[in-house]
Amino acid sequence: MRKKIIIGNWKMFKSNKEAVEFITEVESKLNLNSDTVAGIAVPFTMLSDARKAAKKLVISAQNCYFEKEGAFTGEISIPMLKSINVDYVVIGHSERRDIFKETDEMINEKNKALLASGLTPILCCGESLETYEAGKTIEWVKNQIVKAFKGISEEDAKKVVIAYEPIWAIGTGKVATPEIAQNVCSEIRSIIKDIYNDNVSQAILIQYGGSVKPDNISDILNQDDIDGALVGGASLQVESFLGLLK
Ligand code: PEP
Repeated sequence: MRKKIIIGNWKMFKSNKEAVEFITEVESKLNLNSDTVAGIAVPFTMLSDARKAAKKLVISAQNCYFEKEGAFTGEISIPMLKSINVDYVVIGHSERRDIFKETDEMINEKNKALLASGLTPILCCGESLETYEAGKTIEWVKNQIVKAFKGISEEDAKKVVIAYEPIWAIGTGKVATPEIAQNVCSEIRSIIKDIYNDNVSQAILIQYGGSVKPDNISDILNQDDIDGALVGGASLQVESFLGLLK
């Protein structure tokens, strides 16, 4: 059976002090079973303190650069993240793709570099409202997935966590119905099967993200092909974050 993985994405919110207080309070109230992975993706400045504070939660970065070092002002490398024991790295979030113009090719480089370093990528994909309304979701997501997995071995592919996040549902309060989310996640599993095989497609974890809240998470997680959630807004407050994990 696949594990469940629930990760909060804090985006550009909170201070170091708030991050440590949040983790300490959450962990004092948290009873995780061994089949569930829970954690938060925090801004770069908080990673080190968050990693030291967290005993039960996994800590994720929200981005990375794929080169090991060099003249890349403002970027953070994977060895830097590794040196402070970061566990996961979100790549290809729609805000990175849209606002910072990250391409599928860059995301593929990040995916490969993370796997080579032993860090776990949380690879985001998802379509805009326009693409959704044009009925082209699967075509769009397939293109993102095929490009992101180019050059990645079967063994490594199993380690990637895929997060399906329809852009029209991110931060809008407009959650995709569990049926829509299940349908796309099941298609993603088939795409992985076509690229690799049944073994990889059955092993890989697929999250849904987009306005997930404590009151809708169980309907989403009850879907066969959804193994977890990537959660923005509802992961910022202790009670709400704990509500996601109940
Ligand atoms: C996200 O940031 O990845 C996200 C899904 O945000 P929200 O839960 O606020 O829609």
